[in-house]
Amino acid sequence: MARDKNVAIVGAGPAGIFAALALSGVPGARVRMFEKGPDIDERIANSPSSHNGGPAAPQGDPDRAKPRDPKWMLCGWGGAGAFSDGKLTLSRDVGGQLTAYLPRDEVDDLLAEVDRMWLRFGAPEELYGADEAAMAELSRRATRADLEFVTTRIRHLGTDRCPMVLREMRRALGDNVEVHANEEVTHVLVEQGKPAGVETSGGKCYPADFVILAPGREGAGWFTEEASRLGLSRVDNPVDVGVRVEMPAEVMADVTDVAYESKLIYYSPTFDDRVRTFCMCPHGEVVKEYTEGIVTVNGHSYAEKRTGNTNFALLVTTNFTEPFHDPIAYGRYLASLANLISDGVIVQRLGDLRSGRRSTAKRIGRGLVQPTLKSATPGDLSFVLPHRYLTAILETLEALDRFAPGIGSRHTLLYGVEVKFYSARPELSPLLETQVDGLFAVGDGAGVTRGLMQASASGLLAGREVARRVSEG
Ligand SMILES: Cc1cc2nc3c(=O)[nH]c(=O)nc-3n(C[C@H](O)[C@H](O)[C@H](O)COP(=O)(O)OP(=O)(O)OC[C@H]3O[C@@H](n4cnc5c(N)ncnc54)[C@H](O)[C@@H]3O)c2cc1C
Repeated sequence: MARDKNVAIVGAGPAGIFAALALSGVPGARVRMFEKGPDIDERIANSPSSHNGGPAAPQGDPDRAKPRDPKWMLCGWGGAGAFSDGKLTLSRDVGGQLTAYLPRDEVDDLLAEVDRMWLRFGAPEELYGADEAAMAELSRRATRADLEFVTTRIRHLGTDRCPMVLREMRRALGDNVEVHANEEVTHVLVEQGKPAGVETSGGKCYPADFVILAPGREGAGWFTEEASRLGLSRVDNPVDVGVRVEMPAEVMADVTDVAYESKLIYYSPTFDDRVRTFCMCPHGEVVKEYTEGIVTVNGHSYAEKRTGNTNFALLVTTNFTEPFHDPIAYGRYLASLANLISDGVIVQRLGDLRSGRRSTAKRIGRGLVQPTLKSATPGDLSFVLPHRYLTAILETLEALDRFAPGIGSRHTLLYGVEVKFYSARPELSPLLETQVDGLFAVGDGAGVTRGLMQASASGLLAGREVARRVSEG
């Protein structure tokens, strides 16, 4: 009788979880999942809303009630997805590059299947962006403002509901998958061009005939090191740098009520750089994000709790020229500059930025928009962002103001910096297999995706392929 095949999945974010769901119960497969962070129940108990996770923030910091240890935010069952905003974007053009590997209709089919799975585990039925006539009108409005409007349909879980849905996925796996929480994989073992196993931080080795790497942003540095140790060739990705924009929710209400999240793209006249809106959070709040020692900015919105403001990221995409090959280091460097001259995140009124002066607590205090991130330091973003980025951001805000009057108000707040990386991407087959036969790389950590839906889809794709090979013997 043929022996069972060992499968190791590294990382229990959406990509790893969907790979596990595809492999769960497949006869002949012994599936082990390794996650360096805690399991879901422990995470929920230490989540931001339970107000007791991680080391405390300094006295006087309004974020003191929130966990500071990134372990609780990005690591553990559910990965960065657990406390994400939980917007499931049902579009092949958003949140990843799966269309670089698969034909568009296959990506659509995969995303439809992933959507059905999220629904089965408790995602809400309600869809934003399904009103085609209203979406077409928004698209016309955008065109008149020189902007491209990317139509997307979105299901919104909200930061509060996300962990619960992910917990249902954990339960569904039952005993079919061994989950090794709090166990970090340090090395992938390869012998004669095939995976042989994985080694974990305790020095323990587990056999593996197939390995699916899904380490997310948190494990992107580790993934890059492993990829170069294993001699995998890689493709450079761009880096997106920008700010988070915050305004009264009324300014965007007629847009967010229809589309929830509008993806708008603009090409800045001066440098012809591509600038896009990202992660729109109607009635949401601006939050700090801690990644590998650097503080950046992000946004959240909750299904239940609503603020009076709406925020979104404005990101400028740049591809660098030879011989530079480290866009991630560049993005981190800019974020660290903001950290150096503030308590982590700078906030500035648009009017102050335009007038070439810093914002002060007093100026912001008498402004029409009050910051939802209270601990941001009033300051001057022009000390941090290079001229090229600032120009692109200011030009885009002018165009956005034509689309939704009020965005360009001098009271609008800008927080910096927001940086989005695609991790370095190894060369992959259309099934997301690396040059090592049986070693797959999926999700954000492999630079393939940067959103919940495409991360889940990439895991499902690789998991199914491994299931097929196990079944064929
Ligand atoms: C604040 C915030 C809000 C977001 N909001 C949205 C949103 O609304 N919509 C959306 O589509 N996307 C959103 N995202 C992005 C989304 O969360 C990610 O795209 C998605 O989680 C990526 O899934 P992944 O499985 O590739 O990686 P992750 O979710 O990052 O999971 C990777 C896991 O691997 C583990 N790991 C890493 N290295 C190792 C190792 N060596 N050994 C063992 N385990 C390891 C990590 O601990 C982590 O748990 C948000 C992200 C953040 C941070």
